[in-house]
Amino acid sequence: MDHFPIFLATAGRRIVLSGGGDAALAKLRLLLKTTANLTVFSLAPAPEIKNWATAGKLTLIERAMEPGDTMCAVVFYAADEDAVEDKRTAAIAHADGALVNVVDNLEDSQFITPAIVDRDPVTIAIGTEGAAPVLARAIKADLEEKLPSTLGTLARIGKGFRKMSYTLPFGRARRDFWRDFYFNAGPKAIAEGEDAVRPALDDLLNTHLKNEAREGHVAFVGAGPGDPELLTLKARKALDEADVVIYDRLISPEILELARREAVMLDVGKEGFGPSTPQETINALLVEHGKSGAQVVRLKSGDSTVFGRLDEELDAVTAAGIGWHIVPGITAASAAVASIGQSLTKRERNASVRFLTGHDMKGFADHDWAALARPNEVAAIYMGKKSARFVQGRLIMHGADRKTPVTVIENASRPDQRVLSTTLAHLPVDLAEAKMTGPALTFYGLAPRAAAEIASTVISREFA
Ligand code: SAH
Repeated sequence: MDHFPIFLATAGRRIVLSGGGDAALAKLRLLLKTTANLTVFSLAPAPEIKNWATAGKLTLIERAMEPGDTMCAVVFYAADEDAVEDKRTAAIAHADGALVNVVDNLEDSQFITPAIVDRDPVTIAIGTEGAAPVLARAIKADLEEKLPSTLGTLARIGKGFRKMSYTLPFGRARRDFWRDFYFNAGPKAIAEGEDAVRPALDDLLNTHLKNEAREGHVAFVGAGPGDPELLTLKARKALDEADVVIYDRLISPEILELARREAVMLDVGKEGFGPSTPQETINALLVEHGKSGAQVVRLKSGDSTVFGRLDEELDAVTAAGIGWHIVPGITAASAAVASIGQSLTKRERNASVRFLTGHDMKGFADHDWAALARPNEVAAIYMGKKSARFVQGRLIMHGADRKTPVTVIENASRPDQRVLSTTLAHLPVDLAEAKMTGPALTFYGLAPRAAAEIASTVISREFA
C-alpha cells in the first residue's frame, strides 16, 4: 500500500485551489461538500466558480497565485491543467507547507483524491493508487446502487443515540443491537418517515435489554480450497459475527480478511510432517473461548469433515457443554476436479470414488490397494505428495496399469494453481520435477479433459 487512506478534518481549515476550468470545477464540487474554508485563485474562473463566490461558498481571487497565498492551507490542488503553471503553483504551496495534489499527475502529487460514495456521515473512499481510475468509478457506481440513500439519515440518527446504547453491555450485545438497527429495524422505520426512527430505536433498545446474554458457541466452518468466492454464505456470516477465529495453515489471507475486524485471530497451523500446534492445545483453546461466552469460528480448509480431525474437537467442545454446529465447505477434491473439467463419478466408468490420505499419524497410510488397482477406479488422494512413491509401489504391486492417468492439482482454485498431468508409472519423478510447494491433491484414474479450459499452468507429460 503506497497510499494510506485517512479522513481529514476540514472544519474551519484552509483548502486552496489554483485553476478555473473543468478540472477545477470537478474538484470544487467535491470540496464544497466539506466544511473547509475554500480559496480559489484563477485568472479566468468558470461562471459556476463566480456564482459560488457570490453565494459565499468560497473565496475567489482573480489573479495568479503568489508565494504566501497558501499559508496555513492544509491541502492544495494545482488544477490549472497547464504543466508549467501547475508546477509553479505546486512549488509555492509546497514551500508554504501544504500537502499538494497536482490534478492528473500522480507522480508529483503527495496525495490522491479517492472516488467517493457520499452517504454523509457514512463516506466510502475508493482508491486504486492511480492504477485504475475506471475500476474505481465502476466500484463507486456499484456501491451507489447498493447503499440505500437513507443510510446517511440512519447513521445520523444512530449517532445521536450512541450514549443510550451504553446501557447495553459492551461488546456483542451492543453490536447485535446496532446490527439490528441498521439492517432491520432502521430501514423498516424510515420507510414510514424519519420521525418513526427514534421511537423504533427506543423499542429496539428495550427488546435488546431484555435479551439474555448469548452463550458461547463454536461454529466449525469449512473455508473451501482458498478462493474466497468459494466460501458459503453461511461461512461468510459466521466470519462476520465471530469474536474469535481459530484457523489452520491452509486458510488463505483473503479469507482471513473477511473476519470481523475486532475478532481475535489465532493461528494454529499444522503442517503434514512439520511443526504443529498439538491437537490438545487446539481443543483447549476452543473450550476456553467457548466458555468465556465468545462466538468462536473454527476455520478449517476445504470441508471440516474431510481429514480435518473434526471429531476430536467436537468431543472436547461437547464435553465442556458448549453449543456447536458445522458449516460445510467445498473440499479440495471438488475444487480440483472442477479445474480439470472432469467428474468424480461417471456412468460406466466409476460408480464410487475414494477419498484417501497419503499419510496418517503413523506415517504412510494403508488402504485397500487391491480394490483400487482394478481398472476404472478413481481416488482423490489428500496429503499425497510425500507418499507418491509409496502409493505408486502399492498400486503396481497389486496389478494396477502403469499407464493409468494421474493428475496432481496444486493450489486448486487459487491464482497460482498448477496442474500436473502424468501416469502412474511416472508420478514420483514428474512430481519431484514439478517442485510443488503448495497444497496438492492427487487424482488417481483421472486425466484433465482435453477440452477443459484450465485457468492454470499445466505440466503435461504428453505435451511437454
Ligand atoms: N479439509 C480439507 C483437507 C485437509 S487435509 C478439505 O476438505 O479439502 C490437507 C490436504 O488437503 C492438503 O495436503 C491437500 O492434499 C488438500 N488441499 C487442501 N487445499 C487444497 C488446494 N487448494 N489445492 C489442492 N489441494 C488442497
